[in-house]
Amino acid sequence: MTEKDLPALTIADLQLLLRRREVSAREVIDALQARIEAIDPAIGAYLWLDVEAAAREAENSNVDLPLGGVPLAIKDIINVMGQPCTCGSKILQSYRATYDATVIRKLRAAGAIPFGKTNLDEFAMGSSTENSAMKMTRNPWDLSRVPGGSSGGSAAAVAANAAFGALGSDTGGSIRQPAALSGIVGLKPSYGRVSRFGLVAFASSLDQIGPLTKTVRDAALIMNAIAGHDAQDTTALNEPVPDYTASLGHDLGGVRLGLPKEYLTEGIDSHIKAAIDAAVNQMSSLGAEIVEVSLPTTEYAIAVYYIVATAEASANLARFDGVRYGYRAENPRDILDLYGRTREEGFGAEVKRRIILGTYVLSSGYYDAYYLRAQKVRGLIREDFARAFEKVDALISPTSPVPAFKLGERVADPLQMYLADIFTIAANLAGNCGISVPCGFAEVDGHRLPIGLQLLGKALDEGRILQIAHAYEQSTDWHKACPPIAAAA
Ligand code: GLN
Repeated sequence: MTEKDLPALTIADLQLLLRRREVSAREVIDALQARIEAIDPAIGAYLWLDVEAAAREAENSNVDLPLGGVPLAIKDIINVMGQPCTCGSKILQSYRATYDATVIRKLRAAGAIPFGKTNLDEFAMGSSTENSAMKMTRNPWDLSRVPGGSSGGSAAAVAANAAFGALGSDTGGSIRQPAALSGIVGLKPSYGRVSRFGLVAFASSLDQIGPLTKTVRDAALIMNAIAGHDAQDTTALNEPVPDYTASLGHDLGGVRLGLPKEYLTEGIDSHIKAAIDAAVNQMSSLGAEIVEVSLPTTEYAIAVYYIVATAEASANLARFDGVRYGYRAENPRDILDLYGRTREEGFGAEVKRRIILGTYVLSSGYYDAYYLRAQKVRGLIREDFARAFEKVDALISPTSPVPAFKLGERVADPLQMYLADIFTIAANLAGNCGISVPCGFAEVDGHRLPIGLQLLGKALDEGRILQIAHAYEQSTDWHKACPPIAAAA
């Protein structure tokens, strides 16, 4: 194993080498740094790195811990003490985190090294990472295309072998969708499975932190470290955390998988439809029973999400006023001028659009018609899933209706961008868990563009969707594919 080959390893394989003392944690950091220097100028996944600090942590790391000596990239919306936490926004450009998020504390306790902050759509609002105020991130499979979003930096880093694994956040698909578009695995835990303390809030009733990794096993390893109760987040469930690797390796005999009939209709790219059909056949040949199910409220999910998420965002983002931290407008005339210009100058267009939408749906006179009604329909969406999960163990769908699109193609058309969330947002509204796993490629303009298969499970059933995803993954070679730019680096 040369230094050059190290970054392509999965977390599980890296751990074996570390524990056998065949490689030191310090050598791993050096190899990763060399890799990032070689490839990230073309990709733009990272916003910030402190290699010296990571090297120091590596020297002191205990490689016998569950994630001992494993460097992980962190979406720049999760607080890591002493590091920037820009949220991809000008308003937090100069902010430094004063504490560790609970997930970071837990990762450190498991021996992992938070290594670098990755790019994202401003405050995680978007599906392409183009809403970042910081820089552009490119899809490693085709540099003229988006990596997906909002955790696009995390996804691109892992896909390009410039990270062993990463954390992202998922409010309506922001872990699963970039994982799908970049050809890796992304898991959104059930609401409450992972503490949100230290995750800068976008929509508090929907947000969850989760892993983006090269394999399903690696996602299970990170979940083992980050899941569980936290006294600092009252929504973090006080439920035992199973060993998520324990369910891996079982076959699909006796597993019932539901195909929501509303999901496989018009509007899906033909490559994606073909890849999902093939994956369903594959699962069936592995022993799963495939059942058609119905989620009748599917057509309302996007509307409900963009009411609930913007309402919560408008409240959560009220704290950025130029007084307490972050950007402050210069020479304010008075306090209202300070608030107004700080927000006008500090926030980007999409964030302003969401704040305006959210304020509108919460305003008196419109609250009942929009926000309250959306909450009621959210209840119906939850019931749809509960009914489906009485019949099946998990649901199958595409993760995204389209493969990675061209940079710039959708920025002028926010609605088009919102529609790409159709398969992922309902899981957040219902609080379920979901995973995206590579299931093929679309050949477009001479490039292979990855396709993701989504498996949805009921709340706290992460072990089950990891098991199913793993059985499927291990029966295919999709997860072994590497973008040409990463193979050449
Ligand atoms: N694309 C969705 C949005 O823009 C989801 C974002 C997310 O999950 N953070 O809101």
